Amino acid sequence: MNTQASPVQVYVRIRPTASFAHELIECLPDQQTLSIRWRKDSKKGMSNIQLNSWLFKLNGVLHNVSQEEVYDCVAQSVVLGAFEGFNGTVMCFGQTGAGKTYTMTGAAEAYKQRGIIPRVLQQVFHEVEHRTDQTFSVHLSFLEIYNETMVDLLSALKRGKGVNNGALGVVEEPGGGVSIKGLTLHLVHNEEEALNLLFEGEMNRIIGEHALNKNSSRSHCIFTIHIESRSRTLSDAKYITSKLNLVDLAGSERLKKSGSEGQVQREAMYINKSLSFLEQAILALSDSRREHVPFRQSKLTHALKDSLGGNCNTVLVANIYGEASQMEETLSTLRFASRMKCVQTKPSINEHIDPVLQVKKLQKEIQFLKEELSTYNTLTYRVGVFNEILSETQVAEVKSQVQRYLSGSLNEIPIVNVTQIQEVFAQFKKVVLEKEEKLRELQLKNTLVEKAKITTPSSVAEMQDSSSTVGEVERCGYGLGLADSSQRHQQDISRKPTKQKRTSRREAALNPMPTVCRSGASVETEQFLNQVNQMSESNMVTHESEEQQRTEPNLTEAVSSPPPKADAFEDFKAERGSEINRILKENKAVLLERRSRLHTLTDVINATKRDMDSIASELQQYRGQSQGQFVSAEGEHVMDEAELSLVMQLRELKNRYRKTYEEYNSTKAEVSYCQHLVNQCRIRLLTEFESWYNESFLLPDQVLSVLEGGPIRPGHVPVDKALTLEDDGQKPFKHPPDNPQETSSAVSFYNAYNRSLQRVGR
Ligand code: ADP
Ligand code: MG
Repeated sequence: MNTQASPVQVYVRIRPTASFAHELIECLPDQQTLSIRWRKDSKKGMSNIQLNSWLFKLNGVLHNVSQEEVYDCVAQSVVLGAFEGFNGTVMCFGQTGAGKTYTMTGAAEAYKQRGIIPRVLQQVFHEVEHRTDQTFSVHLSFLEIYNETMVDLLSALKRGKGVNNGALGVVEEPGGGVSIKGLTLHLVHNEEEALNLLFEGEMNRIIGEHALNKNSSRSHCIFTIHIESRSRTLSDAKYITSKLNLVDLAGSERLKKSGSEGQVQREAMYINKSLSFLEQAILALSDSRREHVPFRQSKLTHALKDSLGGNCNTVLVANIYGEASQMEETLSTLRFASRMKCVQTKPSINEHIDPVLQVKKLQKEIQFLKEELSTYNTLTYRVGVFNEILSETQVAEVKSQVQRYLSGSLNEIPIVNVTQIQEVFAQFKKVVLEKEEKLRELQLKNTLVEKAKITTPSSVAEMQDSSSTVGEVERCGYGLGLADSSQRHQQDISRKPTKQKRTSRREAALNPMPTVCRSGASVETEQFLNQVNQMSESNMVTHESEEQQRTEPNLTEAVSSPPPKADAFEDFKAERGSEINRILKENKAVLLERRSRLHTLTDVINATKRDMDSIASELQQYRGQSQGQFVSAEGEHVMDEAELSLVMQLRELKNRYRKTYEEYNSTKAEVSYCQHLVNQCRIRLLTEFESWYNESFLLPDQVLSVLEGGPIRPGHVPVDKALTLEDDGQKPFKHPPDNPQETSSAVSFYNAYNRSLQRVGR
């Protein structure tokens, strides 16, 4: 038995007779071939004798063989296959009286003449007894199909599974098999119990025949043995099932219908209509080009669907008479048999998994693995490692780690185990989703603002005209408002000229990024740039007094808009720009340290120079006083102790001066270099922030409007313009051309610039 396509096995059994038609039927020595020669008399008399001969090649010809030999040849391997998990079907087909029931059930009165069904039951229980490594359950069912009515021959027992309360029906199962809904299945524990049911079913068939005046040769009987086996030794959730269908078909004789007078053609059809459908199904099955097989045409073909075209080892026994008088039906049976031989089935093991056992097995496995892991953790000193689903506290800890990691206060998240890693990812995802949600809300608000502007121009104009209208810009110093920025800018400047000038001068002195208020840039832009310039100073300069905050209405709160740039900038520094901001801070710290060192060195040099000058004048004075006092034999000037001491001091001071001056020069170069780095970082932080701000909060047309030189709204600082405010003599950016057409997209420009910075690792 294998899972490959296998043809239906077909045997012919000839009913023993004293008048065997030797001249017409010949069993060839291979015991597999029947040669039929037949002369058929036409209705018109002996003058029209037709001589024909046929050869039928089968799997075996059973002529004058005992019931035991028939069983061994036909059914034994099918039963063994059922114990491996393959379904099996043995069916008898043939003319009434040809020996189908004798073959299938046998003669009840003689044990030796018992048929295939009792022998199958005997073998089944023999196997059950001998296969001690498995446990089996065997159920029986007995179905009769008479005129498209299905009868449960064992329903009267009312003790089986699936008690038959209503009409029976053929049900197609998910794997392509079929079952009979409502048919009772009876658990049997031994051969005797099984035989009792077989005989009881046979008895019910005869009783039904008398009561309903029906003819048993016109009904089909399907006796089914359902076997389920599980391994005794392996606690496996897998189990196998199989069905053995033992089918005694109705008589296959045909009804001859004469055509109208003069019509030569004769039409013959089965007395039992369902056999016509069986033949049609077999024809379709044996023709590989046919896609559709009409199984559902009759109850019989539907019930035998998986026996004929499915997952089953199928054997057909074609019962024929040996007499010459039955030759026409014999030929018809043999034709059916040879067609059946072309039908292929695909037997496969019916393996299932018991869900309850599977759960138990997996639970056991989980427990075992937990213990293994716990042992491993102990052996490798992995104390406190958790392998279970994380508790709320653990989740909270992971969340906090992720937040600290994102804010930069935690350098890395230590990896503990897979569960923890998954939670880390989950927390990251949450953060991203929250940000996306926030962004969507902001964009929605922004769109609403735009719509509000379009739909209520008068009210907006009113607000814009109102001299008392001051937005978020004025309130917090950095926010965005809808009021015309240049107007407010003018107002602000006229209101506070002294303060503006003072701030500008101070920043110009402190910083190489002077704050220049350019035409078109708003007060907020200016303030924002001031903030960028003073990033190292923690306190933001607030330009508005609290009094103004109280008296001036807050337009931004009334109509929502992108967040104030100062707030956004703080967010940016904490998140996206945290790395560059950190580098900037570091560079600034180095710069400050170097500057302070430069100051110290300057002081040292100046002090040394003062000392040198003082010593030099002292020496000069001393030499003037003691001129020629000490002269050597050679007439050379000899220094006394005091003069020598002064000379030595002077030399030491000169040395110090030289060394300090060298250090001063190198520190000066370092200061200059650090200054350059700080500037670069500032520019990068600014450009990245602009890019992020535009991407995050502005609608594409707003960005475009800004880029194309449209009205600049408060808070929308074109990056290129902002960058021109860098007046440090080492601008990395070209001045934007005045002609808007020549202006390439600032966004793509600074994006490209940022990319190039990343490439060169600056
Ligand atoms: P079917 O079921 O095909 O209508 P049966 O099995 O009832 O035919 O057979 C009709 C009769 O022929 C029965 O009395 C049966 O005992 C007998 N018979 C059929 N085949 C054999 C056989 N191989 N050996 C002995 N008797 C047989
Ligand atoms: Mg019969």
